[in-house]
Amino acid sequence: MNFNQFMAAFPDESACRQYLADRRWPDGKVTCPRCGNEKVWALKSRPFHWQCQQCNKTGYRFSVIAGTIFENTNYPLLTWFKVLWTILQSKKGMSSRQLGRMFFQETTSTRTPWYMAHRLRAAMRDEEFKQLMGIVEVDETFIGGKDKNRHWNKKTHVTGGEGSGKTGVIGAISRKGNVLCRIIENTDTATLDRFVRESVSDKVDLVATDEHSGYRFLKEYFPHEAVSHGKGEYVRGEVHTNNIESFWSLLKRGIIGQFHHVSKKYLPLYLAEFQFRHNHRKDADIFGAAIAGC
Ligand SMILES: [Zn+2]
Repeated sequence: MNFNQFMAAFPDESACRQYLADRRWPDGKVTCPRCGNEKVWALKSRPFHWQCQQCNKTGYRFSVIAGTIFENTNYPLLTWFKVLWTILQSKKGMSSRQLGRMFFQETTSTRTPWYMAHRLRAAMRDEEFKQLMGIVEVDETFIGGKDKNRHWNKKTHVTGGEGSGKTGVIGAISRKGNVLCRIIENTDTATLDRFVRESVSDKVDLVATDEHSGYRFLKEYFPHEAVSHGKGEYVRGEVHTNNIESFWSLLKRGIIGQFHHVSKKYLPLYLAEFQFRHNHRKDADIFGAAIAGC
C-alpha cells in the first residue's frame, strides 16, 4: 500500500473511526472500556458512541477512541493514522521534526508530533511475547551520545562499553523470525542469562553468541555455540551473529541519523518501534496490527 492508496482508504474521519472500531472489536462485539460489559448499545444520535448501563446507573457514554491512545487528543484520527503509517514505512525511523513538516502546520508546537510518535511507539511495545525458536542469535550493544559532544562535567572519558555513559541493550533474533530487545543495566552473567532464558524457547535448535564471558553458562540450558570475534572468527558454519548485528546497525543509524540524541528514558520506545517493524516486516497488515495495539 503506497501513500495514495493509504489516503484513499481513509477519505474522512468517519472511515478512520470505522477502521478503529473494526480493529478494537474484530468480532463486532463492542465492549465497555471501563467494565468490559458486552451489553452496550449504540447511541443513534451519535455515530461511534455507545452507552453502558453496568458501570454507571445513569449510563456511561463512550466513543470509539475511549480507552485508546487517541483519547483526550485534539487531533483527528486521520492525523494519527498518517503519523503511524509514516513511522511504519520508515525503516530507519522518522524524526518528529520531519513528521511535523509533513503533517502539521508551521504554527504547531514541535512537541505535538513528538508526543504523538511516542504514544504510538508505546503502543507498539505491548505486543504479545513469544519465545524465540530455530537458530537464535544473542548479542549486546551500547547506544548513546558521543563523549566529545558532552558537556565537560558530563564527560566520562571512557570510550565504548560499560562506564562510557552509553546505555546497554541486549537482543535476541531468530533467523527468519522475530527479534526481542531491551535495555540492560549491566552485562554480567546473571543479566545475560536471565534475558536469554526469558526470550528463547528451550526447544531452540541453536543459540549463537560471541565469546563474551557472560554467556558461558548458556550451554547448561541451551545448545550454545560462540564465535570468537577477538580471534577474528566471525562465521563458523551456522554459528554467527550477523543478523542481530544488522539489526543493531539499523537501529543505531536510525537513532543517530534521525533522532540525534536519545536519552535512556526514551530508548525503550525506539527499541519498541524498531522491534515492531522488524517483527511485522512480512505482514501486509502491519498498520492494522499497530492500530489494534493502540
Ligand atoms: Zn461499563
